[in-house]
Amino acid sequence: MLLDLFAGLGITGKHLLKNLFSTKVTVQYPEERREPAHRFRGMFRLDEDRCIKCTLCARDCPIDIIYIDWHQELNPETEKKEKVLDRFDIDVQRCMFCGLCEEACPTEPKSIWLTTKTYELASYDRWQNLYVDIDELQEWKVRPDYTDDEIV
Ligand code: SF4
Ligand code: SF4
Repeated sequence: MLLDLFAGLGITGKHLLKNLFSTKVTVQYPEERREPAHRFRGMFRLDEDRCIKCTLCARDCPIDIIYIDWHQELNPETEKKEKVLDRFDIDVQRCMFCGLCEEACPTEPKSIWLTTKTYELASYDRWQNLYVDIDELQEWKVRPDYTDDEIV
């Protein structure tokens, strides 16, 4: 029994010494923030000019939380009919960040993507802040105001 006790104390002592001489891992959030991994899926971005209004992203979303409406307008410069977005909303509060919408998008580069690395989505009002429209999808505006960093 004493042998087991010393073995346990030995492991504790080993980790204690290791932690004493190791570099700090604590980050003083929110003053300091860690950069998420390269393929981290965070808040969406939409490029309205790139988007061809095909609605494939909405059709491939397994829980149908992308809402797209568009109409056709005559472009006076090209004299051709063009699709114009009326609505592009995402109910982010139900999103599971599977990325299937981004995968389905046929444009190159993608018109919708989740790798913005914006993860600060906590909100007191989920309907106000986690139901996003075209404008918010192009510039995430409800980030906490304790940082001036640009969204990547
Ligand atoms: S990430 Fe998944 S759940 Fe969220 S909107 Fe895209 S397809 Fe739908
Ligand atoms: S799949 Fe891409 S191009 Fe098509 S509507 Fe969605 S964001 Fe636009």
